[in-house]
Parts: sequence; C-alpha cells; structure tokens
Amino acid sequence: MTVSTAVTGIGSLVTNDPSLMSADNPLGLVPDAAVVIEGDRVVWTGASSKAPTTDNRVDAGGRALLPGFVDSHAHLVFAGDRAAEFAARMSGRPYGAGGIRTTVAATRAASDDELAGNLARLLAEARRQGTTTVEVKSGYGLTVHDEARALRIAARQTPETTYLGAHVVAPEFADDPAGYVALVTGPMLDACAPHARWVDVFCERGAFDADQARAVLEAGVARGLTPRVHANQLGPGPGVQLAVELGAASADHCTHLTDADVDALAGGGTVATLLPGAEFSTRAVYPDARRLLDAGATVALSTDCNPGSSYTSSMAFCVAVAVRDMGMSPDEAVRAATLGGARALRRSDVGTVAPGARADLHLLDAPTHLHLAYRPGVPLTAAVWQAGERVRPEPAVA
Ligand SMILES: [Zn+2]
Repeated sequence: MTVSTAVTGIGSLVTNDPSLMSADNPLGLVPDAAVVIEGDRVVWTGASSKAPTTDNRVDAGGRALLPGFVDSHAHLVFAGDRAAEFAARMSGRPYGAGGIRTTVAATRAASDDELAGNLARLLAEARRQGTTTVEVKSGYGLTVHDEARALRIAARQTPETTYLGAHVVAPEFADDPAGYVALVTGPMLDACAPHARWVDVFCERGAFDADQARAVLEAGVARGLTPRVHANQLGPGPGVQLAVELGAASADHCTHLTDADVDALAGGGTVATLLPGAEFSTRAVYPDARRLLDAGATVALSTDCNPGSSYTSSMAFCVAVAVRDMGMSPDEAVRAATLGGARALRRSDVGTVAPGARADLHLLDAPTHLHLAYRPGVPLTAAVWQAGERVRPEPAVA
C-alpha cells in the first residue's frame, strides 16, 4: 500500500501551479497551506484546514515550502579542484577557456569510483541546499573512452545527462580542431549517445565557432539527442541564434546579447539560462535578466557548478545574486530557479508543487521564499523531499 503524508501548517506555499498563477500571483502562492504526497507524487494542495486524512503528518510550523530547485546546468563529473587558479584570478589575472584542460588531465587520471564518488558527494551537497533535479554534463574526458565513461557514471545518478565532448578542443588535437570535431560527431558520439539525453557545445571564441557548433549539435540531433548551447558567455557571438534556430532547449550564459539575440530568445522556445556563479567567480559583468524578462523570454537560473569558473552548488546563492545584481525580483528569481529550470529541461513533473507533480519539496527555515534573497548566504533549508522520500534532514522535523 502507498503511504500518504500531509505537510500541514505551511505559512506560504510556492506552487508554480498554472491554475493558481496570475499577474498578481506569479508563483501561485497559497497561504496557510498543506501538501499531500503519496508515493513519489503530490496528490493534493490547498488550505491547511482542509487537508485530507493521511497516514503521516508533518507540521511545517508556519514556514515556507517551495518546489525543489531544478539546477539545469552543471558539470559534476570531474576530479581535482582549481582553488589556486581562482585565487590567482581574484588577484587580477583574466579567465580564459584553457583552464578546463587542467581538470581534463585530473579527470582522465581518476578511477571510475573516484568520479562516481565525487559526483555523489556534489549531488548530496546540492540536495542539502534544496536542489532535487540536477543536469550533469560530460566534457572533462575529451576522449571516446573518457567521455563515454563520464556519461555512464552520470546516468546512474541522474536522468538529465548531457554529452559535452565539444567543451574545448582536446589537447591532442590542438593543431587539428577539424579532426576533433570529426571525432566528437563520429566515434565519440556513437559511444556517448546511449548514455545521454542532451547534446551541448561551448560556442565561444577559443572553443568552437558557429560552423563547428552546428556540426556538433546536428550530429547529436541525428542520434536522438536534444541540443542545449553554451552561448554568448565571454563575448557576443553566434551561440544564441544557433540555439534558437536549432530548437535548443536552452541557451546558457547569455551574458553578452544583441537586441536580435534577445528578440530571438523572446520569440522562440529556447530558455535563457543564466549562470551568475560564473560571473561571480570570474569577476565578470552579470547577464541582464531584466532585459530578457521584459522582452518576454523564459529565464532559468542555474549554478554551472564546475571546478574552474563556478564552484558553487547553491541555487539560493544564484537567486540572491540574480536579485541583487541582475534586475530580477525575488519572485522572478525563485521562479527561474524552479519552474525556469524545469522548462530548460523540458520537464513538466518538476519545478512545481501541484497534483501529479513529482513530490520534490523544499521546506525553508523562513516564513516566505523572499528570505532566499533577503538572507543571502544563510543556510535556510530545513527539510527536503525528493520523489516523496525525505532526504534531509535527519531526524524528522517536529
Ligand atoms: Zn557550463
């Protein structure tokens, strides 16, 4: 028999439920709410006083509950760290894409168990902070064997796996980038496609140009993968237009956009995923979320968690920076970190607390979701349910 649990006494519930959302209530907020979960699903939401009888009951004590964060952009299969590079950069040295090669060397040298253990540790770290869905990219192997093994390891821990063989040109192909693109679109893709849902490319000066990026994405599409693109991070470029043209689920970074880029994102089905951890950690200018939102684009926030340019797993940190420095309201930032991420992964079962959704719940030690930006750096996560299972904290909330 399936066990049912009611979380009652929720002071403020963020549902992102379309049937409750309006111009005046963009997050579908319900005050004095309850949520009932059964198995791995949400089966009921509404006024706490009207909650049906259930097997178990948890009293939220007037605190806020929201959907688990959806982190739609992370690079978590790697070994080593680059703290010294970060310290050097913060002492005045500019960031270039070449630092990725440091992590490539460490990742190739690591065992499967080390990589799997590191990934599990980072996913647990994210979960402790309220994140219940994480996309994981390859991209630190850059050989057929090492890219396939990264995706095999990732696929055991998340369904959202992304083939990023085109992260940078592998060092062995420094003088033959065309040869590397042929590898990425040929034997490497053959080995990786069975373990991946998405295909991604770093379309940027110093990485892959428009023609190369197009070749990578189209080859992935031909193998059943859906594109997403690292676009317009370090400067203006063709990435956003290519992403929209190819029907990519997301264009990620979107830091340097022309008016035409903004129009393309506003008019297409491609989500603009903003990654403020990268600008924070490279001391770069932040993307202008306000401009995208005002144009009507769908915006997601994500961590870009990786050891080089954004070693944070904290979605709450991204929310706080987006509110402080990217022109987002607290409501918009919370929505982008939950529903926006779900849209970027083309998922309708996460990023929302509504009947039928996966029971991914994030209880805060705060009366409302506003505190995520209002109290930056404070660990506000009180409890997390992932697919109906209480995963944080132990022991149970009173
Ligand atoms: Zn990235």
